[in-house]
Formats: sequence, C-alpha cells, structure tokens
Amino acid sequence: MATRLRLSSAVALVTGAGSGIGRAVSVRLAQEGAAVAACDLDGAAARETVRLLDRPGSEKKAHAAFQTDVSEAGSARRLLEQVQACFTRPPSVVVSCAGVTRDEFLLHMSEDDWDKVIAVNLKGVFLVTQAAAQALVSSGCHGSIINISSIIGKVGNMGQTNYSASKAGVIGLTQTVAQELGRYGIRCNSVLPGFITTPMTQKVPQKVLDKMWQMWSPS
Ligand code: NAP
Repeated sequence: MATRLRLSSAVALVTGAGSGIGRAVSVRLAQEGAAVAACDLDGAAARETVRLLDRPGSEKKAHAAFQTDVSEAGSARRLLEQVQACFTRPPSVVVSCAGVTRDEFLLHMSEDDWDKVIAVNLKGVFLVTQAAAQALVSSGCHGSIINISSIIGKVGNMGQTNYSASKAGVIGLTQTVAQELGRYGIRCNSVLPGFITTPMTQKVPQKVLDKMWQMWSPS
C-alpha cells in the first residue's frame, strides 16, 4: 500500500529558503508532499533550492521560487500575493527561516548592526506572519506558522546582543500570535535550534565555536 504523504494538499512558504536550515526545511516539506514556495533575498539561491526539490525521484509538484526582502513591508505583502496567485490559495504552512547575524560586543556595536538584525530577524518575522495570517483568515483557511528563533533568544550569547534580542522577540511574538489566531484554526509555534553548521555559522570565529561547545556539549 502506498504511504500517504502528510502534506500532499499543502502549499508551504519558506523564507530564507536559499540556504542552510531554510533549504533543508524546503526539501523535507517537499518530501512530505507539499508544494513549496521558496523565498529568499537571493533569488538565484531560491531557484537553486527549487531545482533540488524537482530532482528525479522526489514527489512531482510545481514548486516555485520568489525573491523577497522580508524586512520590507511592501515586499512581504507582495510575496503573499504572488504565492497565492501562483498556487491559487494561500500557504497553509509558513516557515520563517530568513535571518542574519552582525556580531559585535555591546561596547562596540553600531546602530546599523543593531537595526539590520532586528529588521530581518524580528520585523521580517512580524511582516511575513501578519501577511500570511491575513491571507489565511480572509480566505477562511486553517494553517500552521513556524518561526525559527534560537536557543540564543533564551540564554543569550557573547557578541550577540542584537541577535539574542531579535530571537527573544520572535518567541514573544509567536506566543502572542498563537493566542490571537487559535480561534481561526491557525497555529503559531517557534523552534529554538542550537548550533547547526550552515553558511551563517561559518562566519563564527573558531575560538567562539570552542567556547560554545564547552558550554553546550554534554559533560
Ligand atoms: P543561512 O544559511 O545564512 O540562511 C539564511 C537565509 O536567509 C540566507 O539565504 C539569507 O540570504 C536569507 N536572508 C537574509 N536576509 C533576508 C531577507 N531580508 N529577506 C529574505 N531572506 C533573507 O542561515 P541558517 O543557519 O540556515 O539560519 C536560518 C535561520 O535559523 C535563521 O533565522 C537563524 O537565525 C536560525 N538559527 C540558526 C542556527 C544555526 O546554528 N545555524 C541556530 C539557531 C537559529 P543571503 O545569504 O542572501 O543573506
């Protein structure tokens, strides 16, 4: 008997889908049968992800790539319109993976580095969550919104005041959205990964990595 795919009728929107966790999430969602709308600031990277999903042997689905800056309100709104137009319905699964780091100790952190990280990691999650929720509520569809936070949002990390604040913000935003949208059949959850090797973490200096392993690896 053929295995029933859990997401065979779902459209899944993934931001930050051109790299790291967002690309891996896109692959997994496609394996579960979802049609994936892969969004990234880097449009070519998003298209490359879609090419991976369309590999022979994977479920035959019409996936699509979108170039979007999630930190810009007009772009986030247009993204949802484009996804809805492309798949004829709003995404019922939304995974916000887009994120950046601009690490520096508090004593030296520039306002620009603070603003950039908050704009992408926190405002970007707000804009995508709001646009997706509005599309789902106005079409009467249920859905699941998943926002990628970080363990750093709970415990902090040296050199990451901006990043830890943005990720703590994502946790609070997600808990509140879950309370507001439950009545519409829309779930909202955050995931707090630990350290995962991706292009983002390749920028972390080795001595910082060593310190993190010391703190987090089981003794
Ligand atoms: P990554 O490989 O750098 O992927 C992040 C993606 O987001 C990149 O493709 C990036 O595009 C894209 N992006 C950046 N700014 C954007 C914007 N304004 N609009 C749309 N897309 C944008 O990083 P990752 O490690 O997979 O991280 C994914 C998420 O998991 C992030 O939210 C990160 O904070 C979180 N996380 C990661 C770890 C870890 O250890 N890796 C741990 C906890 C949480 P460009 O490359 O063009 O900038």
